[in-house]
Amino acid sequence: MTASEVRSLFAVASRPEVVSLAGGMPNISGLPMDVVGSLLNNLIEKRGLTALQYGSGQGDPRLREQICEVMSATGVRGHPDDVTVTVGSQQALDLVTRIFIDPGDVILAEAPSYVGALSTFRSYQAEVVHVEMDDEGLIPDRLREAIRAVNASGRRIKFLYTIPSYHNPAGVTLPAERRTEILRICRQEDLLIIEDDPYGLLGFDGEVPRAMRADDDEGVVYLGSFSKTFAPGFRVGWTLAPHAVREKLVLAAESSVLCPPTFSQLAVSEYLSGYDWRGQVKAFRELYRERRDAMLGALSDLMPEGTHWTHPSGGFYVWLTLPEGLDTKAMLPRAVTNRVAYVPGTAFYADGFGSRSMRLSYCYPTPERIREGVRRLAQVVEQEVEL
Ligand code: PMP
Repeated sequence: MTASEVRSLFAVASRPEVVSLAGGMPNISGLPMDVVGSLLNNLIEKRGLTALQYGSGQGDPRLREQICEVMSATGVRGHPDDVTVTVGSQQALDLVTRIFIDPGDVILAEAPSYVGALSTFRSYQAEVVHVEMDDEGLIPDRLREAIRAVNASGRRIKFLYTIPSYHNPAGVTLPAERRTEILRICRQEDLLIIEDDPYGLLGFDGEVPRAMRADDDEGVVYLGSFSKTFAPGFRVGWTLAPHAVREKLVLAAESSVLCPPTFSQLAVSEYLSGYDWRGQVKAFRELYRERRDAMLGALSDLMPEGTHWTHPSGGFYVWLTLPEGLDTKAMLPRAVTNRVAYVPGTAFYADGFGSRSMRLSYCYPTPERIREGVRRLAQVVEQEVEL
């Protein structure tokens, strides 16, 4: 195990004079803390003996029903028996990897991919083979080629890990036709899909992309989370998995945490039943949309020619690629000196690629700070181009 590049950045990026476009912290300033406070108070007063006790390894039954209702917004019809509550979707990634991977097995993942998944895959000694994306996400033909190449080399592919909606870090979303095609390819190849969907409800255009799991009950393990639609501090996520996989997931989860935290689960459950959570998701969308607009506006006003970036329609991230010959990791100290931080692209690849790219997050700073951050970044890029 090694520290991720994002991790070692946090200390520098959190200095107040630095505009951090690096971290992906959800912006929970819009949460009604008085409402959350009284929900939690009530929970302890009325159901304290349950809320502070051990619970079922699979997760609270009522919360699992509510999770099915939340998933229905993405078109998924799941049964509460097939849901396992996890400690964030990060634990779900850990459990899925633990039950499927033997050292040397191959996982297919988008290029780039979520840094937290890559480090989990690495810790179980999986070999990640990246599949190219474009501005519409994973390219089906490239997936076919990757499967062929890995099979020809005699290695075993265990699953495809994908983030189809509002990708972290790429900021792109897979259109419906590609989802169908990728499902078809994976069915033909008998390849399991791990669909990681923490941002699915956070689209800016009103529509919620239909999850891949909605069109395939058997071939997809769906991972969800309340970290971005409610609050990450509760650490509540889940999996929806085919029955046989679900049984193994629960066994693996029990051996690592006995049960997910009861207090957090019941807090989320009370929030879902006692508060207008859909209204809150809408408020989050507005908050992030305003910040996305600030970032895209500033980038198109200020970035030098030859720079390319994605145009997210939801989620937290823009993926920016600099002109040929530039290196975002080498440039980072100069950016920090100019009081702006980002995550270098190589953090999101298992194979050292991505050196011309960076991830910019717009989720946390104010729109004014985002514009200022992009202005500082554009200055640094301009100097690099001249060097
Ligand atoms: N998957 C993706 C794509 C993410 O961006 C994150 C959080 N940054 C996670 C999983 C983990 O989230 P959590 O454990 O908070 O649910």
